[in-house]
Amino acid sequence: TAAEPLYKRVLLKCSGEALMGAQGFGIDVTVADRIASDIAEVARLGVQVGVVVGGGNIFRGVAVASKGGDRVTGDHMGMLATVINGLALATSLRKLGIDTEVLSAISMPEICQSFSQRAALHLFNRGKVVIFAGGTGNPFFTTDSAAALRAAEIGAEAILKGTQVDGIYSADPKLDPHATRFDQITHAEVLNKGLAVMDVAAVALARENKIPIIVFSIHEKGEFAKIILGGGRATIVRD
Ligand code: UDP
Repeated sequence: TAAEPLYKRVLLKCSGEALMGAQGFGIDVTVADRIASDIAEVARLGVQVGVVVGGGNIFRGVAVASKGGDRVTGDHMGMLATVINGLALATSLRKLGIDTEVLSAISMPEICQSFSQRAALHLFNRGKVVIFAGGTGNPFFTTDSAAALRAAEIGAEAILKGTQVDGIYSADPKLDPHATRFDQITHAEVLNKGLAVMDVAAVALARENKIPIIVFSIHEKGEFAKIILGGGRATIVRD
């Protein structure tokens, strides 16, 4: 018999950079389509999938602040960037026949629904993939923190953090040949060792709410579904 999914509801964190592919800026539709196909695969297993999208491929608030501009305005621009990415990913999912809704932390009713926990749960119960855009809706936060926050709000059983590499390493494996990879690690160890997985606020919030974080390569086609079915290559953060 086929393997059963380990989870009923999960939260995928997809960075903005994952959507830009090799071009260095913006959205590569081919790459967005590929990531959408991975999400579709998991949705078709009957798993309820929420996705928090980043915005770093378009804009980061610090880019304004570092040139003497107002950080809050920069962060507003960054949050708007996540909405653009959310709409792009929703478009890719709908092309695959996956019913998808975008909920934004910042109200823009002409474009998408506004986030509320009730709206999200209602959409999951109707079998939709839900994309959470606009980050937390607050400056000085990141979409990693938004991922931990939304995961807690929707009662996700795990946060799937799609990254450039296949898990958490003791150092950046692209720079340090001696970097070792963890199969499993606790939230506390991630924080104490200062491992760059998600920002501190995100890891702390996940720990507080006892939500495991599964770190895997977003570039590995089909990996998301493999992990949901108990296989695949990833580091799991749990206490
Ligand atoms: N941002 C914010 N509040 C949030 C989430 C995001 O102000 O709750 C802004 C911030 O300026 C950030 C930008 O949106 O730099 C893009 O998000 P992030 O850097 O987390 O995207 P990613 O690195 O995942 O692509």
